[in-house]
Amino acid sequence: MLSQGRRMERPVVIHKVASDLRLSPNWVDYEAGRRVDVWADARHALQGLPGGGLNLGFEAVDRQAAGALRDHVALRFVARNAPPLDLRYFELAQQTNRFANVLRSLGVGKGDHLFVLAGRIPELYVAVLGALKNGSVVTPLFSAFGPEPIAARIQLGAGRVLVTTDALYQRKVKQIRAQTPTLVHVLLVAEDGGITNEPDTLDLGTLMASASDTFSTVETQPDDPALLHFTSGTTGTPKGALHVHEAVVTHFATGRYALDLHPQDRYWCTADPGWVTGTSYGIIAPLLQGVTSLIDREEFDAERWYTLLEQERISVWYTAPTAIRMLMKAGTELAQRHSHPDLRFIASVGEPLNPEAVWWGQEALGLPIHDNWWQTETGGIMIANTPAFDIKPGSMGRPLPGIDACIVEHLEAEGEPARVRVIEEANVEGELALKRGWPSMFRAYLNNEARYRKCFAGELYLTGDLAKRDADGYYWFVGRADDVIKSAGHLIGPFEVESVLMEHPAVAEAGVIGKPDPVVGEVVKAFVSLKDGYQAGETLRLDISAHARRRLGAAVAPKEIVFLPTLPRTRSGKIMRRLLKARELGLPEGDTSTLEGGAWTK
Ligand code: ATP
Ligand code: MG
Repeated sequence: MLSQGRRMERPVVIHKVASDLRLSPNWVDYEAGRRVDVWADARHALQGLPGGGLNLGFEAVDRQAAGALRDHVALRFVARNAPPLDLRYFELAQQTNRFANVLRSLGVGKGDHLFVLAGRIPELYVAVLGALKNGSVVTPLFSAFGPEPIAARIQLGAGRVLVTTDALYQRKVKQIRAQTPTLVHVLLVAEDGGITNEPDTLDLGTLMASASDTFSTVETQPDDPALLHFTSGTTGTPKGALHVHEAVVTHFATGRYALDLHPQDRYWCTADPGWVTGTSYGIIAPLLQGVTSLIDREEFDAERWYTLLEQERISVWYTAPTAIRMLMKAGTELAQRHSHPDLRFIASVGEPLNPEAVWWGQEALGLPIHDNWWQTETGGIMIANTPAFDIKPGSMGRPLPGIDACIVEHLEAEGEPARVRVIEEANVEGELALKRGWPSMFRAYLNNEARYRKCFAGELYLTGDLAKRDADGYYWFVGRADDVIKSAGHLIGPFEVESVLMEHPAVAEAGVIGKPDPVVGEVVKAFVSLKDGYQAGETLRLDISAHARRRLGAAVAPKEIVFLPTLPRTRSGKIMRRLLKARELGLPEGDTSTLEGGAWTK
């Protein structure tokens, strides 16, 4: 009963009127169902290199520093125990020039791979952008990775340079030097501001101080490699997706159409650059749109986050369902102790956003949350509830202008190349596919050509996600192909079940798996963690179970519900259902290199 009454009052669509985007000619055409070439528009807005070619770092930094935004704050770093640090566009240009000159002086050039292993410190951002300007290929890594995942990634990318801090070097890198023979230069940031003198390393501060602050960007072409990103490892061993400089076209267009960024915005993307979101939308897209980006060096803390939103006067906020669920867990009251008059747009990515979370945004922050969908492989946002369109809570939104999405069915289970049929009818489940050719499409899984080929069926890129499209063109996530549960002839998407569990006031998060069953194939089993103030117990379990049966029917509702203090999740915040399942079945856990906390105990 508890949640049913409340649900009744909620419309299925949230109407939008805000944003000047709605009036832009492209948007009007798009809404009218006409084709819009946003890529051409973005290419036009980008400058290109003076001598020809296209470079991500140049467009993000130098184009702005040479224009009206020269003195505008590009990046604002905040930390608990240090004063804020602002880097203006011209300063960022100078710093990245210095870093590019450091690389050049070391003989590191176009196509060489550079890894960065650091917290969200200014040097990380300078190194990423400076290396791009130098034509090198960049991979930021989560600083919380252990030595083995670091070594494995450097090996796969044949890393030539690593930028890290003295402390991280001592703890995690020193011991893997012998395993990473390609690594010629290790550049250390001294965290106390002094000078490092570790053997076989160089002190970055010293090199930067003596490097020139002018640099002409290395001529890169749209198809030259720029970024190597590892997938989150939610479904298995992380894959290295290679992106090229042309991705800048998607970053530019989506920064505008999906996030509605304008130079006067104060924008905060909470993702770490170790995950593709923290690079595409935590570094590049905001700079391309000339905004001021907030970078918080600390880890999640509900009180701190509300305070930052308020005090830093954030206007556009891009975060993830896991963070939203943690804020929900901390209670609406805490949110309401703060006011956020400047906040005008909130978006989320990484996992399905339960309708409950969209509504929570409305209640706690005064704004609904806009879900959007993309992957490491797509390099940028593909499907979104945009600032200009009505939101359908629970839906990922509609394909952005320039993106052709469809739902397909496989014509045979296995076989290569895959053969698929496009499902034209609305509301039919199938695999989500995208017509290839968008600028930020990945160009390889590094060293895994066979796996890359498997992702394509003719002109279509197959995403591995199951979804359906409604009659209005909105896409609805069903589950990952690997996670879908087959029970008594039904296909059950975990997202639907998890969203219903989340409606229960006690539930903070839910992960649902299929547990093998001799009679029906698989039964639905749910793992649930509770909001603060609720006690796990039989009465509560029965109440949640009754709620699920009422909403889903007996065939789909979980047969078993288990309470856990937390669910296992990746560093990018995704629930690892495969780990829940492996533990349930007593099977090997597989690759857990991206597991948050390094280990997870029941
Ligand atoms: P791996 O490929 O290693 O298993 P991963 O797929 O989690 O990891 P990412 O590229 O970080 O790695 O995540 C992309 C996936 O995240 C999508 O394919 C989809 O399953 C999920 N996802 C992202 N955004 C959404 C969303 N808005 N709704 C539902 N699912 C989403
Ligand atoms: Mg994936």
